[in-house]
Amino acid sequence: MSDADHAAVRRELVNALRDRLDASERTLSAIGAVPRHEFVPEPQRASAYADRPLPIGHDQTVSAPHMVAMMTDLLEIERGDRVFEVGTGCGYHAAVVAEVVGPGNVFSAERVPELAADARERLDRLGYDVTVAAGDGREAFADEAPFDAAYLTCAAPESVPDAIVDRVRTGGRVVAPVREDGRQRLVRLTVREDGIDREDHGGVRFVPMR
Ligand code: SAH
Repeated sequence: MSDADHAAVRRELVNALRDRLDASERTLSAIGAVPRHEFVPEPQRASAYADRPLPIGHDQTVSAPHMVAMMTDLLEIERGDRVFEVGTGCGYHAAVVAEVVGPGNVFSAERVPELAADARERLDRLGYDVTVAAGDGREAFADEAPFDAAYLTCAAPESVPDAIVDRVRTGGRVVAPVREDGRQRLVRLTVREDGIDREDHGGVRFVPMR
């Protein structure tokens, strides 16, 4: 498939997401800008613009585009905001968020060193100024806090670790899949001066946080 063909199927995906989701144009145009086929392994390229999760190696998966769009929207980010991601994987979701907030504003941690190294190289090659750290998201980027928003692309056990929520400023948001009674829910936390507001955004399926 040529770049033009990829762009055409990507436009179809964005149109389908526009019909199906209540996503903002800002998020949809970010999805429309990121070449997902460059992020997935060669055998998955032909399916890069199908709205489904795809294997990225090391037993991990990149989320379906509609999930990336939903989570990006829930972050309520704008240009200039600084965002912390736990679970870089192939780097696709980080690139979508970087399209919204701009260069130098996305910080992403990935515990599998090979995935971190590949994502760093790929993001750089594609012109995304995203900082990738190899290691546990509970420990990465403490010195870059506070962030305007944070999100997890792996499911947290029971609740989002305090170490991650603590990296977000008052008024900021955390979006994460969280395990509950053996299932997972997508939650959005809003950090308040006197505590944390929690909203439920439905059932989801993510790889577990390690
Ligand atoms: N956002 C990614 C999705 C990757 S899947 C993308 O666009 O491709 C989730 C990732 O979270 C996996 O790569 C997994 O290795 C990583 N992960 C799991 N537990 C983690 C932890 N404690 N710290 C950092 N990354 C973690």
